[in-house]
Amino acid sequence: AGPSPFLEPGPKTSPNTLAIVSLSRDNFQPITLEQSTGAVDGYAEGATLNTRFGSFPHSTLLDIPWGSQVRASVVDTGSRGRKRRRGEVESEDTPAQSHDEAPDEQAPAAPAKAVTAASGFVYILRPTPELWTSCLPHRTQVVYTPDYSYILQRIRARPGSRLIEAGAGSGSFTHASARAVYNGYPRAAGHKMGKVFSFEFHEPRFQKMQEEIKHHSLEGIVDITHRDVYKDGFLVAGKSPEATSVFLDLPAPWEALHHLSRRKMQNGGEEDDSSASWESPLDPRRSAYLCTFSPCIEQVTRTVTELRTLGWTDIDMVEISHKRLNVTRERVGVNLPSEKGFNPTPADVDEAMAKLKSDLKRTNDFHKLQQPQPESTMDVDEPALDDVPEANGGDADREDEEPVFMQGRIVHRTEADLKSHTSYLVFAVLPHAWDEEAEEAALARWPC
Ligand code: SAM
Repeated sequence: AGPSPFLEPGPKTSPNTLAIVSLSRDNFQPITLEQSTGAVDGYAEGATLNTRFGSFPHSTLLDIPWGSQVRASVVDTGSRGRKRRRGEVESEDTPAQSHDEAPDEQAPAAPAKAVTAASGFVYILRPTPELWTSCLPHRTQVVYTPDYSYILQRIRARPGSRLIEAGAGSGSFTHASARAVYNGYPRAAGHKMGKVFSFEFHEPRFQKMQEEIKHHSLEGIVDITHRDVYKDGFLVAGKSPEATSVFLDLPAPWEALHHLSRRKMQNGGEEDDSSASWESPLDPRRSAYLCTFSPCIEQVTRTVTELRTLGWTDIDMVEISHKRLNVTRERVGVNLPSEKGFNPTPADVDEAMAKLKSDLKRTNDFHKLQQPQPESTMDVDEPALDDVPEANGGDADREDEEPVFMQGRIVHRTEADLKSHTSYLVFAVLPHAWDEEAEEAALARWPC
């Protein structure tokens, strides 16, 4: 298998790999792009993505830079077969809608009929854990981006880390952690790869996760085991993962904690000396950083009690409350000397008119840029920065005339919240093992 599209996507889309189609700002759809096996009698398009914004044969989505805009193809049954590649056929009378222009989404496509003008467009995006979380098939509750971004930094997941996760569920956290620990594919002897050791006891979910990991080419990074971790702990094929980061999204995390210690323990904190051969799943030379994810405070209490009994330190609990803010400039009333009792002089009126004209010019310039380009227009619409006055300072006159604060006061509004499965996050640290070897190493470093 090639490198994972989540880790090394390359510059362009390619066949048999996952891509995420953005239909509108918060509406994503995962697809696996298929190479057309060839037109039949010049008509067949092969695999096609049908959306309410139009139809997109996979051939128009393949081998183009990630982030490209692709226009819907004309749907008919005849002559366009040869012209269709890469969406060269565009609507002549219905220019594609802009994502930003259309408040909800784009204009819905007319139902397919013999000859239909293309009406919409999509963006083709490289897979990222964030996008995958927004569109993955849900088999369980999942951990969302606001939570996992915070969790991953608190449990110190970084390139080269070895991380234990249970349960895998729908794989939302798995994908985010795989990217966090990824430190390249082995290229030299001694390269120890960052890895995610994931555990799931529900057989169908385990099977599904295995398929996804394979399909997303994450096999070298994510190692999934079918296991009840309360009963059987976290060793993999009898060996220690040597983890330093642990994330438990389980109904009863306290039942699994005794497996995550330095010495063999029983559930409840008693040392277990029933068998001498026991290995810890944690790296003995480093501290372990743990997070548990539980929706109820009673679960938190039980987890914290067990953590204390087992010698974990720095225990604290966090709840993430996520808000998305839309920050814009608003012109209303911005240049009034005082909001009350304003009595405009002729000079004020002239100034207001000049500003209005300048705004109008700016709007017109913007719309000129949005006009469809002649013949050479392709489906890949990446506006050249040089064409955008704002980006290259080309509108310098206007900037000279009007300081930026006069372009409006900054306002912010809360947007609809991102989905977030609110849970309590319990964090704790287990200091590294202290044995003869550790003592000697410490003395060598700090001789007393
Ligand atoms: N973190 C996951 C995600 O982001 O997609 C969601 C995890 S889901 C809420 C909890 C999962 O833990 C379920 O899939 C369940 O089958 C699994 N599970 C519950 N008890 C388990 C156990 N004793 N051993 C392993 N997995 C377990």
